[in-house]
Amino acid sequence: MKRLWSSIASAALLVACALPAYAEKTMETDIAVVGGGLSGLSAATQATQLGAKVVVLEKQAKVGGTGLFCEGVFAAESKLQKRIGINVTKDFAYKLIMEYSHWKANSALAKHFVDRSAETVDWLDSMGIKIEYIGVGGHGGPLTWHVIAPGPDYLSGKNKKDYHCERIINVFSKYVTDKGGQILLQTPGTDLIMDNGKVVGVWAKDKSGEKIRINAKAVVIATGGFSSNKEMMKKYYPEYPDITPVGNIGKDGDGITMGIKAGADLEGMNTVQGYRPGLPGFHPADQMIALAVQPYFWVTPRGERYTDESNIVFWPYSNNSLVRVGGVAYAIYDDATRKMAVEQGIEMPLGEWVLAGTKLVKWEDAFNKELARKRGNVFKADTIEELAKQLNMKPEVLQASVARMNTAADTRKDAEFGKDPKFLRKVATGPFYATKLTPRHLGTLGGMKVTANNQVVKTSGDPIPGLYAVGTDSGGMYGDSYDLLLGGGTAGYAINSGRFAAEHAVKYIKQ
Ligand SMILES: Cc1cc2nc3c(=O)[nH]c(=O)nc-3n(C[C@H](O)[C@H](O)[C@H](O)COP(=O)(O)OP(=O)(O)OC[C@H]3O[C@@H](n4cnc5c(N)ncnc54)[C@H](O)[C@@H]3O)c2cc1C
Repeated sequence: MKRLWSSIASAALLVACALPAYAEKTMETDIAVVGGGLSGLSAATQATQLGAKVVVLEKQAKVGGTGLFCEGVFAAESKLQKRIGINVTKDFAYKLIMEYSHWKANSALAKHFVDRSAETVDWLDSMGIKIEYIGVGGHGGPLTWHVIAPGPDYLSGKNKKDYHCERIINVFSKYVTDKGGQILLQTPGTDLIMDNGKVVGVWAKDKSGEKIRINAKAVVIATGGFSSNKEMMKKYYPEYPDITPVGNIGKDGDGITMGIKAGADLEGMNTVQGYRPGLPGFHPADQMIALAVQPYFWVTPRGERYTDESNIVFWPYSNNSLVRVGGVAYAIYDDATRKMAVEQGIEMPLGEWVLAGTKLVKWEDAFNKELARKRGNVFKADTIEELAKQLNMKPEVLQASVARMNTAADTRKDAEFGKDPKFLRKVATGPFYATKLTPRHLGTLGGMKVTANNQVVKTSGDPIPGLYAVGTDSGGMYGDSYDLLLGGGTAGYAINSGRFAAEHAVKYIKQ
C-alpha cells in the first residue's frame, strides 16, 4: 500500500514539474528594453528609427518613471547656446565632469556623453521637442540646463503635462508605438535569458501573472536604479539608507539585480543624487520646507551649527554635509526671517518649484498644521532657551550657537564657516521656529559598469554580448557625489545613453 501511494505521489510530481508554474507566452523582437522611463524610451525611439523591432517592458501602469519629473537636459555647444552667446565648450564640460569626480568617472563614457549632447538636443528638436530656455544646475553655474518647452497639447490646453521632460516621454512613447513597437505596461522584466554567455532575451510577467518569454537579439536595461529597494540602499548607501526618495516609486533595482546574475560588474553604487534636505511626506515645493531650506541657520540635534548653509546652492553638498552629521538637522529662524519670507519673498529659489521672490503666503498654514500634529517635525517658542528644551538640546549650546550667528550677522563676517555675508541673518526676534530637515535624493546613480557605448561589462572588462545598461542602471558618470555643476546631467545622460545603447545594439544584431 505504502508503495502504491509513493508511486502515485511520484507520478503527480512528474506531472506538476512538466507544467509551467504559470501559462507562458513567447514574443520575438530585435531589441527588448526593460524600463519605459527616460533612458529606456530614448533607446526604444533611437532603435526604432534605426529600423529595429522593439518591445518595451514597463513595470508601472504608465510610462515615464523619473522622466516624468525632470525639466531640462544638459548640452554643451548646442545651437541655442551658440546663438545666444553662451560659451560652454565640450572640453570645458568634459574636464569639469572629470575633475568633479576626481577622475573616478568613466572618461570614455563622459566624453561620449558630452560630445554628443548638443546633437541629441538637435535630435529632440527634430521630433518637435523644443527648448524653452537655458538655465543653470546650481546657482551661478554654467548655462547647460536646456529646459524643455511646452508642447502643442500643453499650449492648446489638451494636456497640461505636455511640458518639461514629460513632453519627451509623450513624444518618444507615441513615436515607438506609431512605428509598430510595443510598450507592455504593468509587465516587469524579471530575468535575463542567457545562451552560451550571450544575452538572448528577457523574461517578463504581465499583470495577470502570465510569464512572457521575450526572445531578443539584444536587451537594454533601463529600470531607473534602486532607490525604492531598502535592502540595496542598506548595502550600498549605509551612510543613510533611509534617505527620502523624491519622485516615483518602484525603482527596486530589478535591472541591476538581473545584470548581477548575468555577471555584470558594478560601478559607483554608493552615489546618490543628493537633493535639498526636507522631510518625508512633504513635497519639494511645500512652503514650510521652502523657508527651512533657506541658507540661514541650521544646527545638529546637539544645537551646534555644522556647515556653511549656503552649500545648498549645490544640493549634493548640503546632502553630504547633513549625512555626515547623522542625517538630522534643525533649521532655526526667527520671526523677522519668517516675516521677510512671507511678505517680501524668499532669496534662494528651489529650482522651478518655488522661484526666488515667491512670497510664502501658505507658510503659516503649513507650519501650524504640522505643529498641531505634534510629530516632532516643527517647533515654536518665545525664547531660544525654551526652543532648545523642546528640541532636547542643551539650552546653553544652542544659545551659544545663536550668539555666534548673531555676531556674524552684525559684523557681516562668518568666522565659523565663511558664509557669503548676504545669507547672514540674525536669530533674534521671537517667536522662534525650528523645522527638522533630513536627507532626500532624486535617485541612485550607481549601476552596471559599461563601455562608452553602454555595453555592460564583466569584472574582466569584457562586454556581455547583447546586454546594455542605460540611465541610472549604469554607473560611471560620477565619483562619490552627484554633480550639479553642469545642470541637466542625469536626464541628459539618460537620453544620450539610451541612444548610444540603441546605436550599438542595432549594429550588433546585424553582425
Ligand atoms: C523631482 C525630480 C526632478 C528632476 N529634474 C531633473 C532635471 O531637471 N534634469 C536632470 O538632468 N535630471 C533630473 N532628474 C533626474 C532624472 O529625471 C533621472 O535621472 C532620469 O529620469 C533617469 O532616467 P532612467 O531612465 O534611468 O530612469 P526612469 O526615468 O526612472 O525610468 C525607469 C523606468 O523603469 C521602470 N521599471 C522599474 N523596474 C522595472 C522592471 N523590472 N521592468 C520594467 N520596467 C521597470 C520604472 O517604472 C520606470 O518607468 C530629476 C529627478 C527628480 C526625481
